[in-house]
Order: sequence, then C-alpha cells, then structure tokens
Amino acid sequence: MFLRLLSDVRWRAANPRWRRMTCSRRSTSSTAEPHPISLPAQAQVVICGGGIVGTSVAYHLSKLGWKDIVLLEQGRLAAGTTRFCAGIVSTARPVSIELKMADYSNKLYQQLEQETGIKTGYMKTGSISLAQTQDRLISLKRIASSLNVMGIPCEIITPKQAAQLHPLINIHDLVGAMYVPGDALVSSADVSLALATAASRNGVQIHERTSVSHVLVQKGRVTGVETDRGQISCQYFVNCAGQWAYELGLSGEEQVSIPVHACEHFYLLTYPLKEPLASSIPTIVDPDGRIYIRSWQGGILSGGFEKNPKPLFTEGRNQLEIQNLQEDWDHFEPLLSALLRRMPGLEALQIMQLVNCPETFTPDMRCIMGESPTVQGYFVLAGMNSAGISYGGGAGKYLAEWMVNGYPSENVWPLDLKRFGTLQSSRTFLRHRVMEVMPLICDLKVPRWDFQTGRQLRTSPLYDRLDAQGARWMEKHGFERVKYFVPPGKDLLDLDQSKTFYKPDWFDIVGSEVKCCKEAVCVIDMSSFTKFEISSTGDQALESLQYLFSNDLDVPVGHVVHTGMLNEKGGYENDCSIARLNKRSFFMISPTDQQVHCWAWLKNRLPSNSSLAMEDVTWKYTALNLIGPRAVDVLSELSYAPITPEHFPSLFCKEMSVGYANGIRVMSITHTGEPGFMLYIPIEYALHVYNEVMNMGQKYGIRNAGYYALRSLRIEKFFAFWGQDLDAFTTPMECGREFQVKLEKGMEFIGQEALLEQKQNGVYKRFTMFILEDHDTDMDLWPWWGEPIFRNGRYVGKTTSSAYSYTLERHVCLGFVQHFDEKTGEELVVTTDFINQGEYEIDIAGQRFQAKAKLYPFSSLFTHRRRKDEMELSGYQRE
Ligand SMILES: Cc1cc2nc3c(=O)[nH]c(=O)nc-3n(C[C@H](O)[C@H](O)[C@H](O)COP(=O)(O)OP(=O)(O)OC[C@H]3O[C@@H](n4cnc5c(N)ncnc54)[C@H](O)[C@@H]3O)c2cc1C
Repeated sequence: MFLRLLSDVRWRAANPRWRRMTCSRRSTSSTAEPHPISLPAQAQVVICGGGIVGTSVAYHLSKLGWKDIVLLEQGRLAAGTTRFCAGIVSTARPVSIELKMADYSNKLYQQLEQETGIKTGYMKTGSISLAQTQDRLISLKRIASSLNVMGIPCEIITPKQAAQLHPLINIHDLVGAMYVPGDALVSSADVSLALATAASRNGVQIHERTSVSHVLVQKGRVTGVETDRGQISCQYFVNCAGQWAYELGLSGEEQVSIPVHACEHFYLLTYPLKEPLASSIPTIVDPDGRIYIRSWQGGILSGGFEKNPKPLFTEGRNQLEIQNLQEDWDHFEPLLSALLRRMPGLEALQIMQLVNCPETFTPDMRCIMGESPTVQGYFVLAGMNSAGISYGGGAGKYLAEWMVNGYPSENVWPLDLKRFGTLQSSRTFLRHRVMEVMPLICDLKVPRWDFQTGRQLRTSPLYDRLDAQGARWMEKHGFERVKYFVPPGKDLLDLDQSKTFYKPDWFDIVGSEVKCCKEAVCVIDMSSFTKFEISSTGDQALESLQYLFSNDLDVPVGHVVHTGMLNEKGGYENDCSIARLNKRSFFMISPTDQQVHCWAWLKNRLPSNSSLAMEDVTWKYTALNLIGPRAVDVLSELSYAPITPEHFPSLFCKEMSVGYANGIRVMSITHTGEPGFMLYIPIEYALHVYNEVMNMGQKYGIRNAGYYALRSLRIEKFFAFWGQDLDAFTTPMECGREFQVKLEKGMEFIGQEALLEQKQNGVYKRFTMFILEDHDTDMDLWPWWGEPIFRNGRYVGKTTSSAYSYTLERHVCLGFVQHFDEKTGEELVVTTDFINQGEYEIDIAGQRFQAKAKLYPFSSLFTHRRRKDEMELSGYQRE
C-alpha cells in the first residue's frame, strides 16, 4: 500500500493539469487598510518584512503607543514563508523564554479574531508529543514540569490514553506521551493579516510591493532606508526579512551580521479521509519519527525535520515572493515512511500536494532578536527555526518593548543578536551548521550536548598539545574549550557516546581532576575569556569606568576588582574582573560570550573621546588558570619571585617572568574558589609557559583539567556565573554580591538608584544553594538546570545551574527563590528567615527530591584553604 501511495504521488506530480488545480492553495491578498500610494519622506520606524514577524512587531509597537511606523513588504503581505506555514502553535519548548513567547502568541491569536474581525482559523486542538524511548519520555517530563509551573496545563499520558485522544495513531512502539490541551492551530497568513490590519488601524502605514535595498547609516546610527520607490528617513529600522535578513544585513555600507540560513522544509497535504478527520483532533508530534501530523480540511498535513536537510540560497539567490519549491519525493520518503508507521490506516489516502518552502535557521536553534552591536537603531527579529508562528506573537512583543522601553520585560539574552559576532556569519559555517540544526530540532538533547559542525574555528595555541593529551572538547562562541581529559588507556569511543540523563561516564575522570585541584595543582586553559584593555591619556578611563561599573575601581595600581556592569535596574549586563595596570589603563576579563555584547555596551556609553582607547585583546593572550594549593610552589619556582601573601596578596596583578618569557600578567584569582593564579600570556609565549608549568609541576603532582571540574568546584562554592545564573534581571543584592557594589564610592554609577532601593526595601528573589538530600547519584536522574524548586510544596523558582560536588558527595543546585503571598499571589520580599525556614524539593522530570537550602556555602569544608579573594567571590565574608 505504501508503494501505491508513492506511485499515486508520482503520477500526480507529473500531471500538469493536477498541478494547475493545486498550485494556489492559499490566498494571501491583503485585507490591510488601504495605504497612501507614495511613500512618506520620513518615519520614526521602518519595518522591513510583512510576514508574521514584521506584522507582529508593527502590531506591538503601535499598541505601545508609537505612531510614526511604516512597514514595507517587497511582495504581498504574508506571502513569504508565513504563507506556507503548517499553522501549529506549540508551547512545548525546552527554553524558558521560548516557552513564554509561545504561550503569549497562543493567547494573542486566540483573541485576534474578536479584536480585528478577521478570521484567523484559530482552533484549540491540543497536541500530543510521543515518546518511543525512555530517554525521550524523560525529556518530555522535563518540559511538562516547566509548563505546569507556568500554569500551562500539560500531562504525561500513557500510550493508551494517547490512542483515545487520537484514534489514528499506532501506539505499539510508544512508552508514553505528553499532552498539552491548550496548543492550537491557526491559518498563519490570516493571523499575519489580522495583525497588519490591527496595526494599520493604529496608524501603521503598510506598503506592499516596496523593496528595501539598503539601510542608510551615519556616524553609527540608522538615518533612513533606500527603497525601489525612494528614500525614507527614519530613526529605527527593523529587519524582519525572514530568509532575506542575512543579505539585507550585508547590503548597506555599514554591514550588520545576521547569521541565518535557509533550508528547504517539506510537508504533504492529503485529500479528506473517507470519514473526514475532525479539525479539533490533537496535533501529533513524533520527534523520534521526526514528523508532525495535524488535521487539514478533513485530511492531514504532515511534515518533519529530516536527517539530511537541503540548505539553499547560500549564494544569496532568492525571489520576490516565495513560490512552492520543487517537490522531492525521494528526499521526503523517510518522513513519509515514519508517517505511515505512525498512522498505518492512512495508506490508502490520496495525497494532494507536497509543499516545499524555505525556512530560516540559526547557528544555535534559537531565534535572533535585538539591536545591532555596530549600528544603533538597527533592530532585527529573524531566524525562527520553523517556529515562527509559535514565537511570532511573543517575539514581536519583546522586540517592541525593547525598542520603546530600552529593554524587554523578560530576559531575552538567549535570543540576543549580540550572542553572535561576525565569526558565525561565514556562509560555509552557516551552511554546515544549519544542516545540523534542522535535524537537531527533533534529536534528543541530553545534558551537555554539543554542536558537531563549525568546530575548531577559534582555538588556543595549546589546542594540539592538549588534544594529544586526551582533551575532550566543547565549544563556546566558536572557541574550543576542554571538558575533561581522558586518561591513557580509557576507551575514547565509549566516552564520546555517553549521552545520558543519568550519571555520565566521565564521572570518575572529572572526580580525579577535582581532587587534584583540591590537593595538588591543575592547569585549565581559559583562553576563550573576553579581554579588553581600556586606557586614556588622563583620568578619562577611570572616570568613565567608575560610572559604568558598580564597584570602586579607584584602587591602587596592581589591584584586581570583581565588579558588575549593571543596567539602570541594577541587573547584570556583565560580571567581570578588572585589573588596574597603571593609573590610566585597565585590563578587563569577561565571560567568553560577552565579546560582542560587552563591547557594544561600553562603546555606546564611553565618551567618544580621542584621549580614551578601548581594544579587544582577547586573541592576544592565552589564559591559564593554575588551581590548587601547590600552584604557589610551581609559580614561585618558575619566576624566582616571592609570591607569598605578603608579596603577592589576593586580588593582585603583577607582570612577571615565567621561565624565559617576560611580561606575563599574573593575577592571584581563580574561578573555582581554590587557591591559585590566572596567567595571561602573550600568545607567542603560550607553548613555552605551558611546557614550563607542566615540567615544573611534575614534582607537585600537576595535571590538566577541564571545564567540568571547574564547574563542579565553582558550584559547590556557590559562585554564580554570568549567562547561567546571572542576567540582566538579577542584581548583586539578589545573589549575595553586595561586595561588588560600592554605593558610596563618591560618584554615581549606572544602577545605583535601583540598588539603593533594594538595600532599603529588600529583594524579591534570592540566589540560593540547594543540596539534594535523598538523591541517589548512581540511580536517579541528574539535575541539569531549569528544574522547578518547591518550598513547602509550593513552586518558588527554578534552578540555574547544578553539578555533583565531589567534596560534599551530593548534588548541588543553584537557583532563585521567590516569595508569593499564598492568597493574593503578590510578590513579597524574600528574607533570610523565609529561605531558612522552608522545606525544599527540586523537581527533576516530575520526580521531587528533598533539598537543603543554604544562602552561604558549607564554610567548614572550604575555609581552611580559602584566601580573601575566594571568600569575596562567594560572598562568604558576610556570613
Ligand atoms: C513548510 C513549513 C511549515 C512550517 N510550519 C510551522 C508551524 O506549524 N508552526 C510554526 O510555528 N512555524 C512553522 N513554520 C515556520 C514559520 O512559517 C516561519 O518561521 C515564519 O513564517 C517566518 O516568518 P517571517 O516573518 O520571519 O518570514 P517571512 O514570512 O518569510 O516574511 C519575511 C518577509 O520579508 C519580506 N522581505 C524580505 N526582504 C525584503 C526587502 N528587502 N524589502 C521588503 N520586504 C522584504 C519578504 O517578502 C517576506 O514577506 C513552518 C515553515 C515552513 C517552511
């Protein structure tokens, strides 16, 4: 029967009469208000792109009260990818911000018809995600936990219950499923037209058949756009050009890197079943089969994410309006087989059409939002990774808030354009990466999975040396970083395949690296960290940095200061260490993924003054962290310099010679809480210094270590990391880092007012450490991050990171606790008593484990080896 179906398809595909009958499946004629024929000479905002994304941005900007908005669309509204969308609005997303966007979109689309009078085809059908394996079920349970604490109804159901909800599915290979009753279907083109209509009623001017050729920029700011119908001067430009966003970004004199790439994306449509399928039947998502199936006009619509996607338009070729691309039944065959396995009863069903349309993907599977780091006023919302309808409403809202208020109402860092740099925009990188990303949408993602493509792009000079010693690699911002070192004799292949939600194979390896950090000395290559030098001819550097950072940087030369770079609300835009090299120059070290964001933040706020210079010196220095009690011995033997606490106190920076190499910047800090030193080594000396350290270290038991050991050590010491625990919505007061704030440093700084208010009135969330009590490390699921935290049975927050502590022999989770009034739900101040007096549980994939909450680390275990800097880092000294 399967063959009959295929032969049926082949006959139809070859028959021109049938092709004519089916080629215009959906109308996309505009129902937006008529617009003036000539373009306005100026506007506040020009939005490029009339798909779901552009119309959502227009809708939300106009709702927020901006008036002077023009939306330009090269073809007709909603005639891009939006026209071909399968219309599934799905909230089951693993990343919290994506989940929030999808939930908002669903609610928005539900009331849009009432608001605009335009039919959107909204139908609450629910969705059922199927699990063919236990691991898949675990991943669904994790999502279900997140949905439930957000108030989105969701349950884990048995295969039998799934069959009751959808009579066509074959359940013989299933181990369970997740049911989300609130998920919906829409007609995506109609949703987009409804948003455009509402926007137009709010004053947005919409011009179809108007193509933006490039954006005009003066002195680093948007000043206008050039179109095929003339120029419009404007203050803001929003690139919502879907698969054209990359090219459009490159088209102006000031290029904007928008790393997106299109792939072909397929679904088939059938004629109605004999007994037409109800339109309200739940959508089936079968990630192990790589397919989704929804009802469509009495028949079905089924598409998927094949293992071998077809990237297209790598050379920048595209059309004005997307046409259905060529059918490719050979390519679709695995998805068709999966469909027939899941719904064998459909074998005799006649296929109407195989739809093939480009969709845009990004290097990390998350959409791209925000302002360009290089051109002010140039905003982007693109790269929807085949979830543009699910995200469109929420994403448009957050971007509009960003433009109007200066920042969205939620932490959108995971989506921020500034998480990328130009390094992710090479066409070859993008082409290879999206071929990995598209199948990954369905692949099972276990803790600590890594991308396999686009690797070895940025490497330390020690890469080959470390690789030869068994380094296992992961990647961050294009940089290869060591996870751990496989000892000689271990089965490498075996370790590479250790993909599990449970205790991983590297457990003992990392354990021995941790032990060495605690008892002897280890070296971790941390060259990927972002490094800037800021200097001036007079006092300008100090004055500017004092305003931009919360701690007091007017310290004696040679001192290192841990400080936050805060926003007006006191939230962390960056968390860094700054060394005062001399009276007028500073060396700043930030997390790896801060390279673009931090640069743009400083550039936009430092006075444009020829006497002030900032340089990104990341590539100039190899960074080695010497960790452990014997680090001091290794370094003193190599430098012939006294480095006892009297000569080299904690939080200190000195230029020293190490071996033959001069000019090594040595700082008495570590990122793990153990004693030790960071060595910033000019790259030409990297190999020499590394060899010297390893040779000298032999007698002190030195070995290499990786980031997994570092992670375990920093989490058991309660060290928060930016990007994981800290973000633009977390203040130093909320995470026990008041020591990074000098409210009375004699001059104003960004965020000061907000912090003063928190100091007086208390905080509404508190960073807390949890030790799992009844958790069996060998048998139970491991926490990762994003697990719900319950206090006295009520949800109070989520974990932000977790690790096994080899010292405590327990799992440690870090996360934020909030306090809501039990009756009104009102947010209340979180006091120390509130934290200390609760009974806590952490939910791992639906199973709750008891946890002990602590606001400070287990001091007795760590104090004997700690120096003042480590205690400061963890906030320990205030205990
Ligand atoms: C087969 C298929 C099925 C899908 N199914 C789903 C689904 O079920 N659920 C879901 O959530 N998502 C789904 N998606 C994804 C979703 O359709 C897209 O993510 C979404 O439509 C993208 O919207 P957009 O506005 O970014 O892009 P588009 O709709 O392509 O809009 C971009 C617009 O910009 C215009 N433009 C470009 N350059 C210029 C210029 N220089 N000047 C003027 N105008 C310009 C284009 O003409 C176009 O209209 C599916 C995608 C495909 C291909």
